[in-house]
Amino acid sequence: MTNICPMCKKEGDLVQRITVESLVNDHFKKHLKSFEYGLCKNPDCDIVYFNNETSEIYFQRDIKVPVWYKNQENPIVCYCANVTLKDVIDLVVEKQKIKTFQELVDLTGAMKSCRCKTQNPSGKCCKEVLEDAFNYALSLIDTEI
Ligand SMILES: [Zn+2]
Repeated sequence: MTNICPMCKKEGDLVQRITVESLVNDHFKKHLKSFEYGLCKNPDCDIVYFNNETSEIYFQRDIKVPVWYKNQENPIVCYCANVTLKDVIDLVVEKQKIKTFQELVDLTGAMKSCRCKTQNPSGKCCKEVLEDAFNYALSLIDTEI
């Protein structure tokens, strides 16, 4: 299947039907026609899932959760434990409660119940995004000193 977003023409990731099925609004569920979907990774594009063979397109408004990299003000960084970027910054920078990535995982319960296949729009584990958020929060401390 071609994996080029029909709107922004950028190459997307592949996600399995189970991820799309879990996250699209309920009335779309029974209309899903494909076993695999493209996931648009462009932050400025409003399309989330697409399949060019079946001409299916799902926009951000058709998905139950906000997609973290699509221009969110306070993106979710772990969908399983519902941890947001603000939560991470709060713990690391404001409260200075956390020094290591492991402490962040322990305290927030992030990645404890790995349900990423059905909770995270990318269908992948939140670890990478959570690490990015942690490193970003650390960088905020450095610049304050
Ligand atoms: Zn796109």
